[in-house]
Amino acid sequence: MIIASYNIRGCGCNAKLHSLRKVVGDSKADVCFIQETKIHAIDNFPVDSVWSDSLADWSSKWAVGRSGGILTLWKKKSFILVSSFVGEGFLGIHVLWSGFNLFLVNVYSSCFIEKKRAFWGRLVEFKAKFPDGLWCVGGDFNTVRVKVERKGISNNFNLKEAEDFEDFIRSMDLVDVPLINKKFTWFNLDGSACSRLDRFLISEKLFDLWGVGGIVVGDRSISDHCPIWLNCKIVDWGPKPFKFFKGWCEHDEFTPLVRDVWKNTFRGGKASYILKEKLLAVKIKLKSWNKEVFGMLDLNVDKAVGELNSLDLMVADLAEDGLVDSVRRNREVASKEVWDTMFLRDNFLRQKARCNWIRLGDTNSKFFHSVMKGRFRRNNIASLITPRGRLEGVEDIKSEIFNHFKSRFTEPMENRPTLDGLNFNVLSVEDRDLLEAPFQVDEIKEIVWLSDCDKSPGPDGFPLGFLKKCWNFVKDDVVNFVQEFYVRGVLPRSATASFLALIPKAPKCVLEEIIKIQRNFLWGDGGGSRKMCWVSWDKICLRTEEGGLGVKNVEWFNLALMSKWGWRFLNDKHAIWFKLLQFRYGSGLQSLGDVVSKSTLSNYSLWWRDIRLVCGTPLRGHDWFGDSISCKLGRGNSILFWKHCWLGNSSLKLLFPRLFEVCSFPNALVINCGLWENGGWSWKVGVDSTLLVGELLEDWKELIEILKDVKPCTNGVDKLIWWRDVGGFSVRNAFKRLYTLNLAISNGSDFRFCELKRLWKATIPWKVKLFGWRWILGALPTRKELWHRGVILGVEASLCPLCDLEEEFVGHLFLKCGKVKFIWKEVFSWFGLDFDVLLRSSDIDTIVTGEDVLLFLLNSLDGRVKSYFFAFIWPLVCWSIWNARNSLVFEHSNWNVVEILLLIKSIGWDWISILSKGNIDITRDLWFANPANCIGL
Ligand SMILES: [Zn+2]
Repeated sequence: MIIASYNIRGCGCNAKLHSLRKVVGDSKADVCFIQETKIHAIDNFPVDSVWSDSLADWSSKWAVGRSGGILTLWKKKSFILVSSFVGEGFLGIHVLWSGFNLFLVNVYSSCFIEKKRAFWGRLVEFKAKFPDGLWCVGGDFNTVRVKVERKGISNNFNLKEAEDFEDFIRSMDLVDVPLINKKFTWFNLDGSACSRLDRFLISEKLFDLWGVGGIVVGDRSISDHCPIWLNCKIVDWGPKPFKFFKGWCEHDEFTPLVRDVWKNTFRGGKASYILKEKLLAVKIKLKSWNKEVFGMLDLNVDKAVGELNSLDLMVADLAEDGLVDSVRRNREVASKEVWDTMFLRDNFLRQKARCNWIRLGDTNSKFFHSVMKGRFRRNNIASLITPRGRLEGVEDIKSEIFNHFKSRFTEPMENRPTLDGLNFNVLSVEDRDLLEAPFQVDEIKEIVWLSDCDKSPGPDGFPLGFLKKCWNFVKDDVVNFVQEFYVRGVLPRSATASFLALIPKAPKCVLEEIIKIQRNFLWGDGGGSRKMCWVSWDKICLRTEEGGLGVKNVEWFNLALMSKWGWRFLNDKHAIWFKLLQFRYGSGLQSLGDVVSKSTLSNYSLWWRDIRLVCGTPLRGHDWFGDSISCKLGRGNSILFWKHCWLGNSSLKLLFPRLFEVCSFPNALVINCGLWENGGWSWKVGVDSTLLVGELLEDWKELIEILKDVKPCTNGVDKLIWWRDVGGFSVRNAFKRLYTLNLAISNGSDFRFCELKRLWKATIPWKVKLFGWRWILGALPTRKELWHRGVILGVEASLCPLCDLEEEFVGHLFLKCGKVKFIWKEVFSWFGLDFDVLLRSSDIDTIVTGEDVLLFLLNSLDGRVKSYFFAFIWPLVCWSIWNARNSLVFEHSNWNVVEILLLIKSIGWDWISILSKGNIDITRDLWFANPANCIGL
């Protein structure tokens, strides 16, 4: 049965009649509700002209004066008329259709709230007389259910009225049929306001009986209302996918049942095949078990309640002292049964409805049912707009979606450059083995345990919670499957979605593993124990000239890769995947940069959640993704006034934080922050003018000044520009952006960076450079540092192991310590200099850090000796001191200045002769006797 409704605003003239015939023709309606006919009993309305092929019947409520009038028209053969009834704002007919009592109510509601309430009340009263009837109430209700059903006239929304309307719908036990192709049914003359005034409310049963898929909103022509009609194509989308319900797990029979199926399903072949077959067997069993056990849920609750009540009656009849223990026990059991069955049912319904059941305060199963069905209707895709026009029908929609995702997962063939003839650095055998080690049972278990159990990851319907629950007997098959994947490197077609969910988790583990290997390589000496990291990982990932080691930060790289989706999301608004997201998460998708709350996140899919987190999590205090995008203002309909960067180099939120604090619409679009009037654009930013005093007023004046010459361009298109745009967004560029933001942690003086640079260039072995880097950064495990970090306790423990007099810090251990001074003295005299004189002439108390030591050397030395010290000697001396100190601490060697000096000279010789690859013409003896001669190599 197709029913159309149209507020026609008078149907006296031929143009209106023509328009009405078009609506009936377009909709193929059997019944037509017309409102505001403005016709009177005496007018001659040509009813038969609406349907050309059959005799039509009608019922009417006449207009009073120049306004109102309701007319219901129908094809006589559609049903048998029993009676008609009228009241304030409605005209109903009671008909017999397919053996049902059907009530068709045509609504033209007054705009006065008292009259609306009268209308609702009358109808509810009337319905009470026919509780078993089916109802279809449609027309112009002149009110809305929620705020988003109105646009433009924002002050026109009345919450109380909306709640009353909602009550009416609930009391009538009706369901609001969603609109398919438009959001609104009414538009005012200049298009500045629109709302959803017209609708159909129908009995739940009619969805199936009529095959209702939604409401089609027709074109608006002669009236300010659009015609609407029920879309009644019975659609069969094919078999419903299997879905796993968490509530099953709570049932006592569940685990034994699954274990039984699992153990008794014997299949040979590949692990993936075995796993698939077992899951399939479980699926089939669970489906029938669900019908047997959970189909009876309501019945079981009723039974348990009945039992408890009859026991209560028994107790009431017994004498005071006659309460038998067995009755009391039975009563306890019955009471527990009531709670258990109710708990089971609620749990089951809760997951089905996937909504916060506490919201309505009780476990209203009717509410759950309606939410459940409503969700299904909302998720139902009745039509799809594509570049090739609008698609309808199961086959077309299915194949469009299939092809879209297929193209996303196929790679076009292209000629790519090859990497032949390049020599890469090669991993050591141990490192390679570690990276390639097969997944361990514990690793797989960890991933399963870390995952969100409630989410059903895909079309196979098994959530990871299923694996958790049944881990004991499914683990062998799961581990076999994952290890088979590891060996073969391909996922078979039969791979189920749950296991695909394991894969994105796995790269994350790989990521952590890589970082762990890198860290251990740097700080540890193997052995697997946890090593202390002396410099933060982010800092290590900076370039050497910025104080790091130039290690590639795989985490940042991963962020950059993920953010590509974020960028495409903002720029690919015509893509189907964007439309699907919008469909699912609503239109509040404008800014990825908004930090999303945890509770919102839990409703998101894993993939979407990850993208939101990558693009929405602040990095070192920056909305790194949002702040990296600047906009070129066009129409202003996709740029956020405060949050996007569209004026100058920073967002208005950052420029005017105080104003942003008090603004009324933090997420307002530019186009909604002003309007065109008298041929010009004037800004209406939405800041309460009473707040504009003092500093706020100053800010405000400045903002107005900035905005003065700016206006949106009605024909333009808003454009997004990525940070330092050269050719748009690239992963490389995003990585650079992340790198730049992380530069904030590279705190250090120009002197430090200059010395580090010199160190990296020095002709000394790599391990010594690394030592020198730690020495300059203050990241050596001297006793004072260890004491600071709580590794050793007690002030005495932080004393210098050489002299036991002062704390061991870099400035002391490497220069000021009495035991160390001798070494420097000898080294200086080796170069023909007097260390004591130099030491006396400097302020030794100020020497604390490695940088201070270097500054002392810088001020004390001259000419070529100085450059020699800085290119070579200081790392050599300090490295030797450190080694000798470690031998003393850990191997209890003696502190022998002569030996240390000899070591310095001979190590120095090794470096010179090896690193200069023999291009020297001095001898070892000459080096030992007079190193100054070697200067100028
Ligand atoms: Zn000392």
